[in-house]
Amino acid sequence: MDRHFAIVDRIIPWKDGMDVRFEIARDITENMKNRMETERIKEQYELVISGTNDGIWDWNIKTNELFLSRRWKEMLGFDDHEIKNEFASLMSLLHDDDVPGVQDYVQKYLKGEIEKFAIEFRMKHKNGSFVWILARGEALRNENGIPYRMAGSHSDITERKNAEENLRSVSEMQALLMQIALDFINVLEEDVDSAIHNSLRQLASFVSADRAYVFDYDWNNNVCNNTYEWCQEGITPEIDNLQNIPNESNREWIETHKLGQEIYIEDLSQMSPDDPSRKILEPQGIKSLLTVPLMDRDKCIGFLGFDSVLAIHKYSDKEKTLLHIFGEMLVNIANRKNLVMAKEEALRASRAKSDFLAIMSHEIRTPMNAIIGMTDLALMSDDDIARFEYLVIVKESGIHLLQVINDILDFAKIENGKLILEEHHFPIRKTFQQAERIYHLECEKAGLSLSVSLDPDIPEIMYGDDLRIRQIIINLINNAIKFTEKGGISVKAGIKRDIQLEDDEIALEITVADTGCGIPLEKQDLIFTKFEQSDMSTARKYGGTGLGLAIVKELVTMMKGHITVESTLGAGCTFNLWLVIRKGSMEQIFDRKKFIPSMGKPLNILLAEDNEVNILLATTVLERLGCSVSVARNGIEALDFLKEKNFEIVLMDIKMPKMDGIEATKQIRNGACGQDKKDVCIIGLSAHAISDIRDTGMEAGMNDYITKPIDILTLQEKIYHGMGKKLTDDPSPDLVSSGNNR
Ligand code: ADP
Repeated sequence: MDRHFAIVDRIIPWKDGMDVRFEIARDITENMKNRMETERIKEQYELVISGTNDGIWDWNIKTNELFLSRRWKEMLGFDDHEIKNEFASLMSLLHDDDVPGVQDYVQKYLKGEIEKFAIEFRMKHKNGSFVWILARGEALRNENGIPYRMAGSHSDITERKNAEENLRSVSEMQALLMQIALDFINVLEEDVDSAIHNSLRQLASFVSADRAYVFDYDWNNNVCNNTYEWCQEGITPEIDNLQNIPNESNREWIETHKLGQEIYIEDLSQMSPDDPSRKILEPQGIKSLLTVPLMDRDKCIGFLGFDSVLAIHKYSDKEKTLLHIFGEMLVNIANRKNLVMAKEEALRASRAKSDFLAIMSHEIRTPMNAIIGMTDLALMSDDDIARFEYLVIVKESGIHLLQVINDILDFAKIENGKLILEEHHFPIRKTFQQAERIYHLECEKAGLSLSVSLDPDIPEIMYGDDLRIRQIIINLINNAIKFTEKGGISVKAGIKRDIQLEDDEIALEITVADTGCGIPLEKQDLIFTKFEQSDMSTARKYGGTGLGLAIVKELVTMMKGHITVESTLGAGCTFNLWLVIRKGSMEQIFDRKKFIPSMGKPLNILLAEDNEVNILLATTVLERLGCSVSVARNGIEALDFLKEKNFEIVLMDIKMPKMDGIEATKQIRNGACGQDKKDVCIIGLSAHAISDIRDTGMEAGMNDYITKPIDILTLQEKIYHGMGKKLTDDPSPDLVSSGNNR
């Protein structure tokens, strides 16, 4: 084996100025071997450092010097020269929240309290993000166990950490959804709103949203409404500003939601400044947003939204999926709520209907009993005065019965959407006077005052349905009398001026006030609903069907108006309503006096009617008007009569055996009774004042229509209009047209 020597040259002074030179050879073979070994180890060490993917650190605890490998610095995005090799560099890059934990851990390890050094923490990357680090290491200690040096590695575990975090977050979210689902399953109907609100709060905190909300799409009105909202403290609620938002205002969203797709804006600032969504969302301070459509099968009924205001939030796919599941839960609970509401409504309606039937049978039986009982007495009595009194009661009971039946009919018409308003010219003051006259005596008997006052500005003649206006007034006065024991009733009418109308229209304002028992606040809206009475026991005491105000409200609405009530329990009620009505003209008014004298000779009237009582009533009325009446008991007989004789008017019952009034009218118009009879004036008669029957009659060719029982004034007016053309040689065109229009 070769040996290595080191030659040392020494010159030592000898004597007489002479020097001696020594050459010493030292065997350095061992030294050389050691040095080469050290070089090899160093090389190996550097190879390990640069070869590993981990960052290496080596800390001299005594001097606090810290070696940080190039890879250590690269892991955080820095070049070698950008970070000084000292302990402070490491500490300055630690996540603030992790500093105390790391310091504590290191101290414990150095004290020997922890056996193996391995800790996870976050360090700041040059680009501002945080990198998760797993630090491992080992300390060298002196014979007393005091550490003087420590070295180890840093591994980047961000990916693993994120995956773990994701998994944790998803399972936490699943647990949360499970909890919400359980809450929803067990929730009582009255707690649904607070359960939804609560779940929004939980989900929002979970996805770091600052505002979570639900919108309903109202496709009928083409608007959407914010129905639920939860906001983080310090975030302004928007729910009040977000009602009745036209769907047109953000078509793109609507179309996306309709397709069942979400809308996700990760960072609003990255959108084009012209983007309509950005323009809407930016003023609300929104940075990120996710909306999930609420799909009821194929139909989008709304959407669920999460706004991030304080910081951008990047939603993972899992988060989105879970929010979609929550959306489905919301749809389910909304459907359940609707179902329960529908069921409750159906139950309530059916209860109200049975109450109504009970009330109705009572309302019908009472006057019926009076009619039958009084008729019996009249038949048995020989005393004319007593008989007269019994018949008065029979008549009053009949009128009452008719009123009940009219209410039922009106109600049925309302239910079918078949209630129609007639229009004619009438003196409005007279309508109020008639109502006053009807109740004047009754009030006097009950010791109540009744005052009716009309603003002088109200035009004298109006054009509209006077009978329906009278019905409204009568209904309100009737109720007022019924529910007032002392004091009085005041009716006022005036013009409401703060409504935009056509030139020929006015808004008539009517107030009916009483000093009666009043209506409890919680019932004040309900009393306008069909079958509802504010107090069943008082209703029993005072009678009534519970339909009156529902009909009044419908009539007022049909006249483009509105009705409200104000009341203090025990201190009376004030019903306030307005309705729109057109101004009329004096010339158009039917003047009863003009009718009979102008006829000269009796009118020939053909009455086609199968009911004997109706025949008796109608012929008596007609004969009193000076008419000559022929009676046909079905359509065929009517045609035969008409073929034989000329009639000015045919009063044609619609329902008759063999041939009904509709068919008979068609045949007359087709010339079955001769060409000269084709245009005879035909007035239909029916017990049902519904638009369908009237329309069928008019379509068949009838000129007009009367509801039975025949009222003398109406009959007179209808004949007057029907005869308009023939009564004068030079008829006014208005007279003729108004006759045929109704
Ligand atoms: P009814 O035929 O029962 O009177 P309405 O629809 O006219 O039906 O009225 C409904 C209910 O409203 C009444 O049963 C009564 O409870 C209440 N009501 C109506 N008008 C008055 C009033 N002037 N004072 C007190 N209660 C009233």
